[in-house]
Formats: sequence, structure tokens, C-alpha cells
Amino acid sequence: MELYRKPAHELSKLLAKKEISARELTGQVLEQIELKDKELGAFITVTAEKALETAREVDEKRAKGEELPLLAGIPLALKDNICTKGLRTTCASKMLENYQPPYSATVVEKLSQLPLVGKTNLDEFAMGASTETSFFKPTRNPWDRERVAGGSSGGSAAAVAAGEAVVALGTDTGGSIRQPAAFCGVVGLKPTYGRVSRYGAVAFASSMDQIGPITRSVEDAALMLQEIAGEDPRDAASSREPVADYTSGLKQGVAGMKIGIPKEYLALDLDPSVRQRFDEACKALEDAGASCIEVSLPHTEYAAAVYYIVACGEASSNLARFDGVRFGYRAPDSPDTTTMYSNTRGEGFGFEVKKRILLGTFALSSGQYDLYYSKAQKVRRLVADDFKNAFTKCDCLLAPTTTMLPFKIGEIESLSGQYELDLCTIPANLAGLPALSVPVGLSQGLPVGVQLVGKHFDEETILKVGWALEQCFGPMEVK
Ligand code: GLN
Repeated sequence: MELYRKPAHELSKLLAKKEISARELTGQVLEQIELKDKELGAFITVTAEKALETAREVDEKRAKGEELPLLAGIPLALKDNICTKGLRTTCASKMLENYQPPYSATVVEKLSQLPLVGKTNLDEFAMGASTETSFFKPTRNPWDRERVAGGSSGGSAAAVAAGEAVVALGTDTGGSIRQPAAFCGVVGLKPTYGRVSRYGAVAFASSMDQIGPITRSVEDAALMLQEIAGEDPRDAASSREPVADYTSGLKQGVAGMKIGIPKEYLALDLDPSVRQRFDEACKALEDAGASCIEVSLPHTEYAAAVYYIVACGEASSNLARFDGVRFGYRAPDSPDTTTMYSNTRGEGFGFEVKKRILLGTFALSSGQYDLYYSKAQKVRRLVADDFKNAFTKCDCLLAPTTTMLPFKIGEIESLSGQYELDLCTIPANLAGLPALSVPVGLSQGLPVGVQLVGKHFDEETILKVGWALEQCFGPMEVK
């Protein structure tokens, strides 16, 4: 039986009934990595032994009748900007090429019963939308290996799509979970800002960073969120809001629901096949008893500009710690400390990261701060208020996840061309809202995703609508 193709919710039942063992399942997944990953490049580090050891422990506990978390024994991959104690965590950067964190992220501790098969590739420090800015290699799209997997969590999305992991975690600051999920034909959930602890996730833009699941099904995303959500005293931004039950209402259907369609998103330069799939998704929801109504988010056109000022500003401050003193790379043979700092940062960071640090430092500098960062924060509020207004008329929003299909590796040479890739995903990060990308079929053999955006802490609604969509379009399988 090809266990590695199945969703976690089915596998966890088979495991509970002892019809399969965690070792057998993990073995199959590791075999897929062995077979495919040289070409795909989804992983920076593969941890086969560690995975098999956890699987063996889970099997033993189950044999003894010990109570286990629902997802115990399900093979997991982690984006390589999530710290794992004693296991190198590179952020796909030369700066952290050999960095071994002294502690694990809260989410890693919470998922300790899931065999960790490896750490996945990303754009350097999660800055990008194609996994091409990785210091190590690009990740290829399992549907077409000439194409990108999206980014920045491209490795996690490709791994789940290719059967090299059953579930994965990514991080999403401006779309990095949802966009690669859409490009790889899998499900990606960015939870509400504060819903999941970021303790141990290497900070990029702290006012937007969120960890979330990438999975094969909406139910799997709900199960993963259930495991990782909740307050954490080690992340001051994590919320005390009680954690909901994400699976109990999942299959209730969408009859009577109002789904808002933001007209500004449809006015973007959408690839015709993306538009066609999007229209089909609307129709599917209407056929299931929901009504789709037009809403307006008038400040959408400013969102990307605001995002890049805020994200670069926060990144310049967060990445100041990488100076060769405490973490990672240190430039050799420097005659004095200032030269050491400058050589370390000059050699340790790639082009995109340096560009953003420079832009961010400029935007925060005295004289420029009011013009850029402070202005951006004000417009950010307007973007967030747009959503508030829209939610007075509807239960959640439906929008394309990306404007285009996965492009060829190297095709969008200038990275500023890739900024266009984030137009649909960024506004939810600026507003701190939960958003879920769900596959809605193929176009020219490539996956297309749509995204549901919900009210703060209302992951239940977007998961419910996402589940209904999945019933119409089905999970997709890479041949
Ligand atoms: N593509 C966006 C960027 O480059 C989003 C990245 C992210 O969400 N980590 O900043």
C-alpha cells in the first residue's frame, strides 16, 4: 500500500487500529526522499535515523496501550528556519550554514511524537517567493521539475506534495505558506497572528511572522493547528484567546454562508487560467448553498508597498544579531572588530537579504522614519480596517492565492518582479488575519489554489469552507 500518498487523518486511524506501524510509514516516506529529493531539492537536512527512532518509540508506546496524541507517528518536515535543538537550522543562509540551536521551538516540542524526517529548503531567511534565494539550491516543483515550488516555504510544500513528508510546517510573513501550497497543489494555513507560538522561529518581520501547517488535506491542517495552537509565555505576541475545536464543525457544510469576493483582487492582472479556476470555486460554493457577494477592500493597491517597508524595516532590526559574534558564520582573518562585522555580513548574507537590510535600515533611519515606516504603519491600519468593514457583510473572503501559475526556475530574474507574487497574500498578514489556501484543480498540468481569509481567530470558518471546496475539487496527486 502506498501509505506515503495518504493524508494524515486517514493514516492516524490506521496507526491507531495498529493496521500499520509508524516505522513502516516513516520508512516509506524516507524511501521517497531517497528516490526523489536529489532532483527536487526539498530538503536541506534529512534526519532518517532520528525519524525512525521516534517512529519506533511511538510504536512501542502504542503497543503498551499508552495514550498518544492523534498525530503521533505521522512523518513531519520542518522549514529550516524553525529551531531544532542540536540539529542544524540554516535559514538557507551561509550565515547559519552550520548553526546548531541550543533549544527547540515550541511547535517542535508540541510535535515531538511526529517522526521528523528533515529540515526543508526555503528562500534565504524566508525572503522570497520561489525558494530560489536559498544559499543551497532551488526547490523544484513536483508537478513540473522545470518550475519553482513557490516560496518561501517551497521545500515544505514540495515535500508534502511529493510524499516526502505527510505534514509539514512553514512560516508565513507575506504569503510564504499559502503561495507555495498553491503552487504545489497542497493545503496551506496561515493562522491568526498570535494563534501559534513563534518561539524558536528565526524572526524575519516580527509583526507579521506566523508558523502554520502545510498538508495534503484541509482536515490535516485542522488537526495540525489543534496540536500547535495556544498561548506560550515564551512568545509575548501569542494570544490568550481560547483555542477552538477545529475539527468538530469541519464537515457542516456552507449552506446559508455569505462569502465575500473582494473586487480589487479580481481587478489584478490574473492569469486567465487562475481566473477560470477561481470562478469555478465560487460556483462550487454557491452550488453547496453559500452565496458569494462582492465586497471592496479599497486600500489593496497600497498593501505591497506597505508590506515591503514594514517587512524590510523589521528584518533590518532582527538580522542585526548576525554579526559574527554569537551565531553562525564569522569572516576569517579580520584585522579589527568593525572589519569583522562588515566582512561577516557582507559574505554571510546573500543579495536579496542584503538588499532588504539596506532598504529597511534606510526606512527606519532618522529623517526617513516618518516618511516611510511611520506612514506605512498608518496605511497598514487602513488595510486592516478594509477587512473589518468587509466582515460586517460576510463570514469570510474568497480570493485567488496567487495571480499566476508556477513559473520556470530563473524565469523571473529580477526579484522585484516576484513581488507581484505576493499581492493576494500580503494583506492578510498586514491585518493579522487567518488565511487558508486550498487547491482547486489543475491548469495546463499545474496546480491552482484559492484562498479563504477569515476574521481574527476564526480559523474554524475558513477550514469549514475549505473543506467544502475540497469535496468539490478533491485532493490532488502528483503522478
Ligand atoms: N514573498 C514575500 C517576501 O518575499 C513573503 C515571504 C514570507 O512570507 N516569508 O517577503
